[in-house]
Amino acid sequence: MSLNTDFRDADRVRALLAAMTPVAGRVAARLGRPLQIMEVCGGHTHAIFRFGLHQLIPDTIEFIHGPGCPVCVLPVAAVDQAVALARQPNVILASFGDPLRVPGSRGSLLQAKAEGAGVRVLYSPYDALTLAKAHPRKQVVFFAIGFDTTMPGTAHSILAADRAGIGNLRFLCHHIRLIPTLTALLEADEVKLDGFVGPGHVSMVIGSRVYAPIARQYHKPLVIAGFEPVDFLQALYQLVLQLDQGRCDIENAYARVVADTGNPAALQAMEQAFESGVDGHWRGLGRVPGSGVRIRAPYRHLDATGLLAVAGPGKAADDPAWCHGVLTGRIKPDQCPLFRRRCTPEHPVGALMVSSEGACAAYYQYRPEQDHPEEARRD
Ligand code: SF4
Repeated sequence: MSLNTDFRDADRVRALLAAMTPVAGRVAARLGRPLQIMEVCGGHTHAIFRFGLHQLIPDTIEFIHGPGCPVCVLPVAAVDQAVALARQPNVILASFGDPLRVPGSRGSLLQAKAEGAGVRVLYSPYDALTLAKAHPRKQVVFFAIGFDTTMPGTAHSILAADRAGIGNLRFLCHHIRLIPTLTALLEADEVKLDGFVGPGHVSMVIGSRVYAPIARQYHKPLVIAGFEPVDFLQALYQLVLQLDQGRCDIENAYARVVADTGNPAALQAMEQAFESGVDGHWRGLGRVPGSGVRIRAPYRHLDATGLLAVAGPGKAADDPAWCHGVLTGRIKPDQCPLFRRRCTPEHPVGALMVSSEGACAAYYQYRPEQDHPEEARRD
């Protein structure tokens, strides 16, 4: 199978749409409204627009763009902590490219770098070990963010740094877990949903079985999807079929990558390095019980939070209220009055505009301005 042929094959796309359209129409007619489907992952939001699927999928299906972009939900206080650390004279603050652009209350890490702070872009947390060895007189801090997808890399790096006895490396971890986040969304009852298109990358690590409570306790079907058009439409079709048949199951339409039990080596490293069940604070969503993690006691000497007393606490501030509305599916990005005006990928006001996987950035990139009736009306 080839990604560029089989999973983007126009005939298969047409066949899935032809099969899905009458079924979705039937369910929507029964409900008296369009189906409300949340695509949890920012990668799926990006794929919907990149491949023009939003123009093909019947309008009896409405997408609610979920909170699954880790950059978008990175809290302002976390960015402020990282900026404050980077401004310490003896510190090198390292992270992936996207977190560097997220606005905090005192600017972004990229702005701090422009002002002379020690900020480096890395492609892997393992590179932080090399960086620390190369700069023995500096304190290197790796700013680690992301869902269960990126946690194994940080976990392995923590374990490797401990084994190697590297004394000048710390990890500022703002990792978040997906399952507590989904259950918090469902508990809050703020978002009205009929089902989920489940994330492919996170599920590659955690597997499909862990979603069982979503179906059992909250009675929402979930189908895990890959990121190619045929992958996504296949999962959406399965989801619509479940709703039509009154079923509520967890299904895996991405079995070529996602195993039921996930990746045992990754899960084992995460379990060894991190303690789960810590409350997480999300930009746009606030406190999400049990969604955070903490470095376990044997590795606490590698935890950068101990350095924060020197750096000072982050200022309490947050994105504009519009971002919360987008993250919870109450408004679409182009209904935000700042969209494409004060808030653009070059100058993001809110974090949903920073990463290409953010809902606002996807709308900005793939929806031409003339297709925005809301904007035309504002003009
Ligand atoms: S356009 Fe900007 S301010 Fe408005 S919701 Fe999106 S990220 Fe937030």
